[in-house]
Amino acid sequence: MPTSSYWLARPLAVVPAGLTTRPADVVVVGGGVSGCACALRLSEHGLRVRLLDAGAIAGGASGRNGGFALRGGAASYLDARAALGTGPARMLWTLSERALDRIERLACGAFRRVGSVRLATSQAELAALRGEWDALREDGFAARWSGRLPPPLDQLYIGGCVHPPDGALDPVRFVRGLARRAVRAGAEIGEHRRLEPAALDELDCRAVVVAVDGSTSTLLPELAPFVVATRGQVLVTEPVNRRLYPRPHYARGGHDYWQQLPNGRLLLGGRRDRSAATERTLLDETTALIQAELELLACELLGAPPAVSHRWSGSWGETPDRLPLAGRVPGRERLWVAGGYSGHGNVLGFACGELVARSILGEEPPELALFDPRRVLAA
Ligand SMILES: Cc1cc2nc3c(=O)[nH]c(=O)nc-3n(C[C@H](O)[C@H](O)[C@H](O)COP(=O)(O)OP(=O)(O)OC[C@H]3O[C@@H](n4cnc5c(N)ncnc54)[C@H](O)[C@@H]3O)c2cc1C
Repeated sequence: MPTSSYWLARPLAVVPAGLTTRPADVVVVGGGVSGCACALRLSEHGLRVRLLDAGAIAGGASGRNGGFALRGGAASYLDARAALGTGPARMLWTLSERALDRIERLACGAFRRVGSVRLATSQAELAALRGEWDALREDGFAARWSGRLPPPLDQLYIGGCVHPPDGALDPVRFVRGLARRAVRAGAEIGEHRRLEPAALDELDCRAVVVAVDGSTSTLLPELAPFVVATRGQVLVTEPVNRRLYPRPHYARGGHDYWQQLPNGRLLLGGRRDRSAATERTLLDETTALIQAELELLACELLGAPPAVSHRWSGSWGETPDRLPLAGRVPGRERLWVAGGYSGHGNVLGFACGELVARSILGEEPPELALFDPRRVLAA
């Protein structure tokens, strides 16, 4: 049965539509964080933009995620430095920190700059966190070793590292706010308008941006081997009247994550590794196995069985090197893609939507080279 998130279950601020038959310069497909950031940047610079979404604005992963706004990529800074080299890794982290600053400015209270914590369950994980902590500080990025963990975390984890620039996002308020800004800047928005793959080549415009993350392969089948739909499941509890977790927490490399919302509810997701094969899907449904796992985690974190109020699922796109694909689609010059954030799209999706927009506007942002889709085809 299709699910809806806690974020989407609240009354949604209206995004004015205003579709016309006027020609557009750019059509953006997908009204999540990437598509809305792209549409906003393009329309602020005077281009006529039409953004189309198969459902509601922020109805996809952007309205179903954990609300973690984290710098960097899906891999740790240490791993990114090893894979890309120090210069490109530093460029990626700097890009994401700048994107966080812009998110804070645009979010109008939907972003709380509270930092995030990464926790270790094993000595190997602890060593990896320490390695990342050292690498970040060596290259001039803020990071703080968390020292003694407060209960009950001291019973569950053996150490942690705080990332001060990170924060917690109300993703639906943020993304629908971006869409409203884009409309004010002149963009047209069409909700409940699904595009078929063949329609992409028939659109009468200069450029088409496909910003559908987990659904990338359905619109761009040539990228199917490189952007694999991956499902995440989440639950939210009734309000808890103790302030236990003041910032987003992330453990087992992101396989467990949680944050306490300002109203006291605990939002918790992950445990996908308990059934990795069944979670490689676009299917929007929760499963008893993963939900039971999440309840176990909630019980450990709260010290009592949770009173669950919401459960949902959503899918993102996972790439082989865990970096997004953003740029021109090889061999289809009018088409651009932004997606494949590998579960780390709140900040990177925003950044990539803006980078693609800047490129269409004729700038040549050097960061876009990090995400060039040609790399996966070449590999
Ligand atoms: C459960 C879950 C938890 C997550 N937690 C986090 C987190 O805490 N922090 C983080 O940084 N990232 C997280 N992510 C990842 C993050 O949410 C996504 O990477 C990001 O939101 C992708 O944004 P997007 O705009 O690219 O795509 P989406 O938000 O998925 O938007 C794509 C849109 O495209 C539309 N669409 C699809 N096909 C078509 C079509 N054919 N025609 C027209 N429209 C179409 C969809 O309706 C959808 O609205 C999580 C994801 C999930 C699912």
